[in-house]
Parts: sequence; C-alpha cells; structure tokens
Amino acid sequence: MGLIVQKFGGTSVADAERLRNVARIITDTYKAGNQVVAVLSAQGDTTDDLIEKAKEINPNASNREMDMLLSTGEQISVSLCAMAIEALGCPVISLTGWQAGMMTNTVSMNARIKKVDTERIEAELNQRRIVIVTGFQGVNRNEDITTLGRGGSDTSAVALAASLDADLCQIYTDVDGVYTADPRTVKGARKLEEVTYNEMLELATLGAQVLHNRSVEMAKKYNIKLEVLSSFTGHPGTKIKGVAKRMEKSYISSVAKDKDISRIALIGVPNEIGTSFKVFSLLAQHYINVDIILQGIGHEEGKDICFTVAGPDLERAAALLKEHREEIRYGRLETNSEIAKVSVVGAGMINNPGVAAKLFEALYDANININMISTSEIKISVLVDKKDAEKAVQVIHDKFFSMT
Ligand code: ASP
Ligand code: MG
Repeated sequence: MGLIVQKFGGTSVADAERLRNVARIITDTYKAGNQVVAVLSAQGDTTDDLIEKAKEINPNASNREMDMLLSTGEQISVSLCAMAIEALGCPVISLTGWQAGMMTNTVSMNARIKKVDTERIEAELNQRRIVIVTGFQGVNRNEDITTLGRGGSDTSAVALAASLDADLCQIYTDVDGVYTADPRTVKGARKLEEVTYNEMLELATLGAQVLHNRSVEMAKKYNIKLEVLSSFTGHPGTKIKGVAKRMEKSYISSVAKDKDISRIALIGVPNEIGTSFKVFSLLAQHYINVDIILQGIGHEEGKDICFTVAGPDLERAAALLKEHREEIRYGRLETNSEIAKVSVVGAGMINNPGVAAKLFEALYDANININMISTSEIKISVLVDKKDAEKAVQVIHDKFFSMT
C-alpha cells in the first residue's frame, strides 16, 4: 500500500482499446489498496497534428497561443481515461495542470515547473478518488497555460511524485525497460533490472528515447524511485535509483550509438592563448552545443581543433566559423558527417580499471578505426566511421555482455 504516480505515454493511450487497458492498470493498482495519481500524454500523434494545424493557420503563431492549443491534447486523454475508469466502477476525477496546481515559470512552450500546490490532489485522494492529471502543462503566475517542452509529461509525473512524496513513480511506455543495447538491432541485448540515475542521465543524453532528461534530473534530486515499464506486456520493467544492482560481472550497463552527429576540424589555428575561447564562445553565443573536443599540443605552424556537433547544427556551425575566419585565423575548415558516436555507460567503471582497454580491444579485433575518444566518470565514447557503427555496437556488446 502506498501512493503511486503512474505516467502513460502517447502510444499507451492512442485509442479507445488502449485507454481501456490503461484504465485497467490504474484500477488494478487502486484496488490493491494504493492511492493512484495518473499522468497522461496526448493520444498518439496528437501533439504533432496540433502543431501542423497551427502552421496551416499561422506559421508564426505566438508561443502563448501554441500553449493554449497544445495543452488540449492532454485534456482529451485525461477526460477519456476518467470515463473509462468510471465505466469500471471506480471513483475518479480528471484535472488539468492548472487544477492540479502545477505552477510554472512564464517561458511559453518550454516552461519549468516551479512548484506543485498539491492541496486539490490531496483532497481528492482523501476522498479515495483516483486522480488523472494532464501531463506536459501547467499554469504561470499570470494564470496562462504553459507547456513544458516536447516529451514533458515524464517531468510532470516526477514533479507530482516529488511533491506528493510518492512511494513510486512508474513510467509506462511502449518499450518494456532500459536495455543493454537497442534490442531491435543488437543481438543478445537484454533488459536491465536496475540502472542508476546517473547512468540514465547519460543514456538519455545519448539519445535513448525512454525518458525525458529533465525528469531523470528531478528524480535524482528528490530521490524518487522510478520504474520504466510497458503498458502492453505487463512485464516488470527497469528500476532507476541511486544505487543499482549490477548485472552479472559487467561494469557497464549499456552500449549506445548516435549516428546523427558531425565533426568539424579547424586545421592550422594559431598556437596562441585564447583561440579555443574564440571558437567555442562563438558557437555558444549561437546556442550550438559542442560534444567531443580534441585539441593537439600543436607545433610551430599552429594546431588543430576538432569537435563534434549534432547533425542538424553542422551547417550553421560551419557557416559561422567561415564568417569569422579572419578573427580565428585558421588555415582550413573540414567537416565530416560520415561518423557516429558509440558509447558505453556504466557506474561500475569508476572503481574498475580496464573498461577502456576492453572497449578498444573489441574494436581492434573487429578492425574498426577510432577517430576520437572522450570519457566521463561513467561513460566512454568513441567516434567511428558511420559505416562501422552497427558492427561496433555489436562487438562491444558481445565483449561486455556475452555469457561465455
Ligand atoms: N504530448 C507531449 C509531446 O508529444 C508531451 C509528452 O508526450 O510527454 O511532446
Ligand atoms: Mg514521451
């Protein structure tokens, strides 16, 4: 018995049958003696469709009106879900973000939750009602509706779990957990029973589309026990917590790849103080995120600076650097989009040497060339040619997770 927050993503509530399925999961949890607050996303592609609709009318619509429009998707889901629960004979009420006390700042379309006034929700729970809350939205101090940025419903759920001091926050989605690698493409990929918040943050940043990054940060900050699981299979999912049980003897938990990145090389920049500062502050001023950076010690004729950016940022970054060539004084600019980043993530590598060596051995045995390397406490990323990406993930996965 306890207070459980359950979040259901867009695919889990996509149509009437799935909504009934979600209603069953919620009522089963309730009938087991728990208090339940459910947070829902908009059905299927509703949010995308609403954005399209807006573009048809006015491609430059204000963010305030966009919030007004996009927030309706979640309202459809919660009211329909409440109706499905009524039909199952359980007491239920649906609430908008405003009714649920989700107070945000005033940044339309990318608002941050400032606090949750839980009074109303608590009153409803005390009446033994199931409470269904719209994800992805809140209200700002001007009493305007705001939305939290794409994928924001996870964050709504975790914020509610934190404010209500919930015992567990379950994120129901269309995958049944976090895997050692993408199970659709990697042979032998297995579901992880548990991962740490830090691992999940790295994985979310690396493009594992299971959880909104901000939601994991918040869960970590408030120590909310999270669980990612499928609304379709009923299988146990992956738990995300402070300290995780390790699988077998592996020090890493997952292998990820990102094929949508590009490398920029500035060849022959002057070997003097302040050059890197010029390059990276220019990019930062234009909100271009830089990932792996490599700079050699240099020689008399100058030095080279290489770095990666997200695929969609390449053209903008290259154009900016060309525009400022005089100032930065580089010899040549080269770009390469035929690369991919492959990473291993694992809290266990902090205390166990040899993870990097094992990774490099796997790539060496497979005859795969490494272009760049970057590490953090719990992550090692290598840049390989795009054509080698799949193979690299497979051989690394085999190396760390093969049963033999
Ligand atoms: N419906 C919103 C979106 O599609 C929020 C969410 O699903 O988390 O981005
Ligand atoms: Mg989502």
